[in-house]
Amino acid sequence: MEFYFAGTGDDVRAERLLAGLQPVLERHGHRRVDTSEAASLVFHPFPAKHPRSFRRQNSGMFLVGITTLGGFDDPIAALYPRLVRSLSNLVVSLTPEGKHDIGDVHLVTLEQGHVRLPAHGLSDAFYEEFYRRLEPLATSRLVVNNIFEPDLEPELWAGDERTRGIGQAGRFLAELDLLPAVFPIEDVLSPRELRQLKKLYGIGGLSYGNFSARLDDRRFWMSASGVDKSRLEIIGRDILLVKGYDADRNAILLSVPPNVEPRRVSVDAIEHWMIYRENPGVRAILHVHAWTDGIRSTEVTYPCGTYEMGRAVADLIRTSPDPVHSIIGLKNHGVTVTGDSMEEILARVTGRLTRSVPMT
Ligand SMILES: [Zn+2]
Repeated sequence: MEFYFAGTGDDVRAERLLAGLQPVLERHGHRRVDTSEAASLVFHPFPAKHPRSFRRQNSGMFLVGITTLGGFDDPIAALYPRLVRSLSNLVVSLTPEGKHDIGDVHLVTLEQGHVRLPAHGLSDAFYEEFYRRLEPLATSRLVVNNIFEPDLEPELWAGDERTRGIGQAGRFLAELDLLPAVFPIEDVLSPRELRQLKKLYGIGGLSYGNFSARLDDRRFWMSASGVDKSRLEIIGRDILLVKGYDADRNAILLSVPPNVEPRRVSVDAIEHWMIYRENPGVRAILHVHAWTDGIRSTEVTYPCGTYEMGRAVADLIRTSPDPVHSIIGLKNHGVTVTGDSMEEILARVTGRLTRSVPMT
């Protein structure tokens, strides 16, 4: 993997962090390059007061924003808007200590995960831990392309009992306060930045959780990306029919009704596609950013919407004692639940899920 350091401006702490990081990346076989075009991982320092975005050339590039900010109680509230504004996949915040030193290092991901790493005077142990957190970003591949084909059968234009089950699940989870509000992305991004974000990540907005239900042996309904999950109504806009994955084009294939401006399907469609294909008995899948104790969990925190994240979750489900009724943890992120119907899943998880996800 090739990495690139964008200019550090006059941020002495970011400069120190990156100076120590370079030999660690090199020791793990990565190579520093002089132009960002050739890089798959870019480190981009930006001022906390004026977060700005780095001009990315391709969607395969992961951007690590670095900033210096202290004195906050809630790291997500303080850092998440800056992650969005800087269009980063991960934001690294250095807490000032004394004149030049770094106290704690906070990492916040696009999925609203957060970890705090004590800098320990930027020791070797710190850098190894920091590298362990960066590696999944550096080595995974996003599946964000959507190909829409207006070939949905007319009898499905208004949905069916499965899509009504998905709509009910959204309202039910919203009542339990298990669906965080859609992040007001329009408030923090300019129209140009919004266009760039949509083009790069294929996301129409930031919302959390998704639902799907099997239609037949190859197709399934799934909630759209960036929509209010408590109001899933219109087919093609709020709920889409996934009919396949095209590996050559690295794209999700969708059947939509004519005369609807389609929205993108949830970024986790690749994960659900793998699960339905490998487990014919699974008829519905729920994913929420909540937790329950005593479950098996993925070991590595891959970003949402990557092939590797899908693979890690699907492998755990396939090898579960009962793949059709399993609850799998996604480390520092949430749970994915399979079932024979959305109603059956909701009955099983009610009272078991808590809003707070343990961070390790
Ligand atoms: Zn998620």
